Amino acid sequence: MRKNIKPKTSLCSLLTAAGLASLALFAPAHSQSFGDILGSAKKVAQAATVSDQQIVAYFSQMSDEMDRQNTLATAKNPYAVRLAKLTTGLTSYDGLNLDIKAYIASDVNAFAMGDGTVRVYSGLMDKLTDDEVRCVIGHEIGHVKLGHGQKRLKLALQQDAALSVAGTASSGVRRIANSELGGLIQNVISAQHSQAAETASDDYALSFMAAKAYPQAACPSAMDKLAALGGGGGIGLLKTHPDPAQRAKRMRAKIK
Ligand SMILES: [Zn+2]
Repeated sequence: MRKNIKPKTSLCSLLTAAGLASLALFAPAHSQSFGDILGSAKKVAQAATVSDQQIVAYFSQMSDEMDRQNTLATAKNPYAVRLAKLTTGLTSYDGLNLDIKAYIASDVNAFAMGDGTVRVYSGLMDKLTDDEVRCVIGHEIGHVKLGHGQKRLKLALQQDAALSVAGTASSGVRRIANSELGGLIQNVISAQHSQAAETASDDYALSFMAAKAYPQAACPSAMDKLAALGGGGGIGLLKTHPDPAQRAKRMRAKIK
């Protein structure tokens, strides 16, 4: 996988080159045999009826894969200790069960999956105060609660016949083929990058901060830091993503 040379700097409104490549999941299908077409029709039927429980199982599979690809901070690691402290009591929120952990990686980044998995990169924690990290976590919970990744996952299941399911695990839960997993993860995470999704999650983060009696001002101040790191400029699709300076300004205007 080719790594971006630029530092990664805007929470989940960040797409790597690898992430862009994964959007090929939506590329027109190659010529299909009759059998393929039948298979596709079957997939669409499956996707239309896929249960919420199954969707969560797919997300869990993707979360496990991300954890496998990254270095999780172990319990005694200073990042894990700090994160555990600043998220005390946050095992659930707004009806969601949460699993919040740190990755040891220099990326200034964070993401969430639809099963309630939230991962915060140590590179982000290095830049932000505890309250600013809390705001990022609130923002990520927003993506889960508002179903941004879930919509994309359902769309991918409906549209991509290549998203073959490897089989049914002993638990009775279907699993995504390993060969499709990486692309699907990037695809689902990238669904959170639209202006509308980011704005909705920013608003959610402000409500989260208020509900938890954390200072809302930590949200725009986190954005200021990202803006200073150059998150608003960038290359390629980054240009189409929300500018952290604008997000900071919008959030400041919303804070009473
Ligand atoms: Zn986001």
